[in-house]
Amino acid sequence: MTTEFLKDTSTSVNSAEDVPSMSDRSLEMSIIFWISSVTIVVISGFAVYRWQTDDSGGAAVNTLIVSMVAMVLMLSRYPRHSALAIKLFGLTTCSAALLSSLLVSNNGLLWALLVLLVNTLTQTRRWALALNAVVIVVLTAATQLYESLLQQVSWTTVAILITSFAQLSTDQLRKQRELLAKQANIDPLTGAGNRRLMQKHLQDLATGRRSGERSATLMVFDLDNFKEVNDQHGHETGDRVLIEFVRSVHSSQRGDDGFYRMGGEEFVMLLRGMNETTARAYLPGLHQRLSGQVKTPSGAVEFSSGAATLRQGEDWSNWLARADRALYTAKNSGRNQILFCED
Ligand code: GH3
Ligand code: MG
Ligand code: MG
Repeated sequence: MTTEFLKDTSTSVNSAEDVPSMSDRSLEMSIIFWISSVTIVVISGFAVYRWQTDDSGGAAVNTLIVSMVAMVLMLSRYPRHSALAIKLFGLTTCSAALLSSLLVSNNGLLWALLVLLVNTLTQTRRWALALNAVVIVVLTAATQLYESLLQQVSWTTVAILITSFAQLSTDQLRKQRELLAKQANIDPLTGAGNRRLMQKHLQDLATGRRSGERSATLMVFDLDNFKEVNDQHGHETGDRVLIEFVRSVHSSQRGDDGFYRMGGEEFVMLLRGMNETTARAYLPGLHQRLSGQVKTPSGAVEFSSGAATLRQGEDWSNWLARADRALYTAKNSGRNQILFCED
């Protein structure tokens, strides 16, 4: 019995494209929204009070902080600038904490602690630690802010503890968020994208195509006589064949393609940017390369496939149904072949 297809599957991961992007910054953006909004309201109040009490230096600093935060808030409304907005938010709040501590009053030391906490929640690990180190070093060195050495040591200790604990919790939170996102989109057996992810990608493409985006082709796969593999060699061997099959597809597909398990031994490949002419030239070769690549003790695992290129204005489910119909014809006319939808 060959053991080639019984290799450890722990490294069977999906292509990077199928894993949900970790650029989901919704938590960070909502923290930035709320902190910025509250900061603008509160600090504007301080600015007005200071202008009225002739503390023009303090009022100018407060006005500067409100303007900077308002700018970041506006920038954060544009999703494509979210990474920049988050970085600028960190720079702004750190500058605000330093300016208000050094130029206005040592009440700023309390605000600085809040800034350290918010940095760990919103910034990347490296950026948060760098910003917090600058704030802690500068404010610790400003001895005029403290009434005693004890107060200075206490502030520095609390600042370091807040940074450490908050960063540890954020690291944990991000790991869990990443894991959950992965579990929601990846087929646990094979590491291919799941049906949910497939539907989302197909829907996005179908919507984009309506607004004139590039073409795309679908290829639906169904393993031939797979039931026999289970019947002859057991369900576990069947599972291993599925895993090995996905692994072989992942190593052959182009970087931008999606690959999903629709259910059972049926899979879908999404070929972005591929029009019908290119698909007809490229896909038969791909089918030939992949079919028969995975072996079972009783022979090579072959598959049938159907392909369809997305039409202008077409619904994603209709697109998939056309590819499925071509697959059905491929099955009924001898298996182990690829057919294109002709209707
Ligand atoms: P055809 O060429 O017509 O597609 O024949 P087939 O035997 O592949 O088709 P059929 O749909 O009759 O059988 C599919 C089999 O796939 C039946 C089911 O037991 C098996 N199967 C579905 N999901 C899994 C799975 O997760 N693991 C294993 N081992 N088998 C599975
Ligand atoms: Mg089937
Ligand atoms: Mg089958």
